[in-house]
This record gives sequence, C-alpha cells and structure tokens, in this order.
Amino acid sequence: MSEIKIQLNLTPLNEWGLGNSDQLIISGPCSAETEEQVLATAHELVKLNPQVKVFRAGIWKPRTRPNNFEGVGLDALRWLKLVKKETGLKVAVEVANGHHVYECLKYGIDLLWIGARTTVNPFSVQEIADALKGVDIPVLVKNPLNPELQLWLGALERVNNAGISKLGAIHRGFSTFKKTPYRNSPEWYMAIELKRQLPELPIICDPSHITGKRSLIGEVSQKALNLAMNGLMIEAHINPQEAWSDAAQQLSPEGLHQVLSKLKFRTPEGEDILKEDLLELLREDIDDLDHELLDVIARRAEIAEKIGQYKKAHNMTILQVTRWDDLLSERLGKALALGLDETTMKEIFKQIHIQSIKIQEKVLSKANGDKVKSNQ
Ligand code: PEP
Ligand code: MN
Repeated sequence: MSEIKIQLNLTPLNEWGLGNSDQLIISGPCSAETEEQVLATAHELVKLNPQVKVFRAGIWKPRTRPNNFEGVGLDALRWLKLVKKETGLKVAVEVANGHHVYECLKYGIDLLWIGARTTVNPFSVQEIADALKGVDIPVLVKNPLNPELQLWLGALERVNNAGISKLGAIHRGFSTFKKTPYRNSPEWYMAIELKRQLPELPIICDPSHITGKRSLIGEVSQKALNLAMNGLMIEAHINPQEAWSDAAQQLSPEGLHQVLSKLKFRTPEGEDILKEDLLELLREDIDDLDHELLDVIARRAEIAEKIGQYKKAHNMTILQVTRWDDLLSERLGKALALGLDETTMKEIFKQIHIQSIKIQEKVLSKANGDKVKSNQ
C-alpha cells in the first residue's frame, strides 16, 4: 500500500449539521419505490429510532443487468422533500453523474453519496466533483467494488479538491471470488488502512451491503463500531420482504430498533478496546484462513476427480510414482522456504495425496464396476 501522504481539508463530523454528534446513523430503504412507502418508512424510523438523523433512499439504481428496477428517478425528490418537512430527518441520495448532483441540489437534498460502482470510475467521480464546485454539502464516498485503496483515496481527493470538506467514506465491502458468508467481503484491513492514512476522515460502515442478509447486520455493525468507525448506514423498509431491490438485507424499522438497541457504541479512548479488538481480529483472520484452506482442498478434490476421468478415458493407472515423488519434493522445498516444519508438511501432503487417490478410485470404480484400476 502506498505511503504517499495524502492531505485532505476536512470538517469534523460533529460540525456537519446532521445531529452534530461524533456518530452518524443513516437509514432508509435501498430504493424509493412509492410516495407511501417512503413516507411510511420515514415516519416509523423516527418513531422507533431517534438515533437515525439521515434518511437514505436510492432513486437512480445502478443495476448489474438491464430491465431490473432502475429506480423511480426525479419523482422521489419530491417525496424526500416531504420526508424532511414531515419528520425533520435530513435526506440522502446516491449520485452517479453531474445531472444527479444538479437535481439533488435543486430539491434541497442534504447529503449525497457516491456508490461503489461509481467510485471505480475516475471520469464519473470527476464529473460529480465538477458539479459540486462551490457547493457546501456533505458527501460520502463508498469504497470501490474492488479492494483497491488508491481508487477509494483518489475519489475522496477529487471530491475534496472540488471544495467539499464535509467529506467521509462508506465501507460497504468488496466483490470477491472467495466463499464468504457475506454478499461483499468486508476486508476490514482496507477500512483500517484508510483510517491509518486519513485519521480525521469519518468512515461510516454499511453492514447492509456487506452482509446482504438481515440476520448478520447486528454483528457486522458491532464489529464496525469496535473498529472505531464513525457511524452506520443501514437499509430499512416499511415492508422489507416486498422491497423492489435488496429485499433480503433490509430491516423493518422495528428490526432496526432491535439491532441499534443491542449495539455498544464505543469511543477510541475507551479502555481495552484495542487489545480486545486485536485478538478478535486475529481470530477472525484464522477463521477466514481455515475456510480458505477448506475451499482450496475442495477445489483440489474437484480437479482430482477430473484427473480420474482423464486417466479412465486413457486407460492409465491412478498412481504415477515419479509424478508423486516430484510433487512431494517440490512442495516440501517450498514448505522449508516458508519456514514450515518439514515432517508436519510431509504428513499433510501424504493425507492430501491419499484423499486424491480415493477420489480417483471412486471415479474408476463407478465407470468400471468394482474393478479399480490402481496399483496402490
Ligand atoms: C445502495 O446503497 O443502495 C447501493 C447501490 O450500494 P452500493 O453502491 O454499495 O452497491
Ligand atoms: Mn441497496
């Protein structure tokens, strides 16, 4: 990770005029759908969750494929004006181009955020930054889809260079090929590294898009707070099951109340936070690595099965002794270079090899009745 010192001109979060606290809680539906849905959600949210200071709603939705619900567009800006008037909540919208910024400013939207699919594109971010010149409005920049810190930093710099000092980041997780329980892998070290490079920059966690699942939002929110993040953006909908987008991850206003009431808000100065978090982080890393290890072993088993099919088709024996010898000495060489214990690694590879042979035997016995063509 680059050590080029980045300097941003930032206004502290408690001076943004959004509840004037060190923690910012944003909630609201993934998408504005109808006037009734927007207003009912906002009213229930304020009734049950006084901690929520900003109401979010996506009105232009970046969809992976065409012909999915792409947001209601400009109509929703009028509904959000009503939310402000009727509930006193501030309102926030995702912008993806200069035209969006122009329309939001016209309707008095209080906070803008740049979505993950936009942060990846410096042209779009620059267009947004240009549209923001001379405007004093809070802007949050979501992390890009891919875990590349420079892109995230670059987008923050572009917006800051346009004169936006009420600037923060949103950590919403990253696309990954890894098998994780989440929709987007949190890669917590990315948020930690951002905090290390820009300690004054507020970072808000979006556990809704990290988890993709209502049931996991509480634990991910707590983790974010433990890591000294400055707030949460959580999707909530008056009727989550029926939501037009992201139905599985939205909470009802009552569900949000359950989550928020269990959270422990901490301050960086609080005792023992770092010690406790470090152990927890290390344990999570171990959990992740074990899962990766199992995924790799499973992928290896799949390939062993394909090799079994090939050997069957070409009438080959399962064991080729020289191949096994070469493989073992190559792997042990690498193990030694990595400082691993040779005897232990030899034992592990022996077991892996036995498993591979078993798989191939199964392939052969399936095809040829019980005659397993192996010289084991
Ligand atoms: C959203 O906040 O609804 C959204 C589209 O999020 P992201 O940009 O994180 O995918
Ligand atoms: Mn969403």
